Amino acid sequence: MKPLFHPALVNDPFGDPGVYVDCLFQKRALLFDLGDIRALAPRKILRLSDVFVSHTHMDHFVGFDWLLRICLGRQLVTRFYGPPGFLDQVEHRLRGYTWNLVENYDTDFALEVTEVHPSGDARRAVFRCKSAFRREDEKALARTDDVLLDEEFFLVRGVLLDHKTPCLGFALEEKEHLNIWKNGLDDMGLPTGPWLQDLKRLVRRGAPDDHSVRVAWHDSAGLHERVFPLGEIKEKAVRIVPGQKIAYVTDVVYHEENARRIAELAADADVLFIETPFLDQDAARAASRFHLTARQAGLLARRAAAKTVIPFHFSPRYDDAGAALRQEMALALGAGG
Ligand SMILES: [Zn+2]
Ligand SMILES: [Zn+2]
Repeated sequence: MKPLFHPALVNDPFGDPGVYVDCLFQKRALLFDLGDIRALAPRKILRLSDVFVSHTHMDHFVGFDWLLRICLGRQLVTRFYGPPGFLDQVEHRLRGYTWNLVENYDTDFALEVTEVHPSGDARRAVFRCKSAFRREDEKALARTDDVLLDEEFFLVRGVLLDHKTPCLGFALEEKEHLNIWKNGLDDMGLPTGPWLQDLKRLVRRGAPDDHSVRVAWHDSAGLHERVFPLGEIKEKAVRIVPGQKIAYVTDVVYHEENARRIAELAADADVLFIETPFLDQDAARAASRFHLTARQAGLLARRAAAKTVIPFHFSPRYDDAGAALRQEMALALGAGG
């Protein structure tokens, strides 16, 4: 089974943090953190539908202008999500430029921006190129279960963590994966074809088992049509497997409340991207900067039972000692300790 999501770090682990996630079968991608993104080809930036910003320290947000530069003049809507104060900060970034000619553009690039509040709720506003990026359509949003984005195939959760400023950790969760079992279709005398997409949609929506599914197809013998209850097709030809989960956690201090939230957010993740900026011998420095050590990152990944762990956001003080950071993380991940 091909995974739906293909996540990769934007830069090497000493560079600005960020993970680009390509979505297979959909011409779109997601980005977690918006630091220096010049390593991404413009076509990859144009594919971004949603950009999740953990917090607005420069190394996580300096790429905003570059993204704007690439997307300006395109007919696009890009959605952004960030911590408290994010709407004001996006507005100020946009106001830093002169937009006196944009009302004549043929295209309209729009930013739909959501800021998350500690209450769990959120505010959203839109900034359109044709309106000179004025803040418009602002409204309050209620959220449930920390969900920021809920789509047919996946959802993204965002949880506020402590970095001496609120900092969002994210989890991208594919919904149940539906596999069609070809032998099951053969037994029922049914062909493969586009109708299977409708079938998957019905199953995902939780349609009742007695729902009638009509299958019509053409072959050399002519036109055929059959009607089956959904429950029968599900039982004989559909296999439901859990979806992929990818978690992204960076810029957090190690204390019990953060640890609990991170373990919950990243629980059973297939891939956990977690910051490992400092070695444990520099734990005091890590704590004073509200960051993790590699050992602490390993302990958190272990507590979350993440299957694969990718360390990043290495402090430049270790220069070419990236291997030591990886090793310390891996040791804590394996040993507990
Ligand atoms: Zn950072
Ligand atoms: Zn930071």
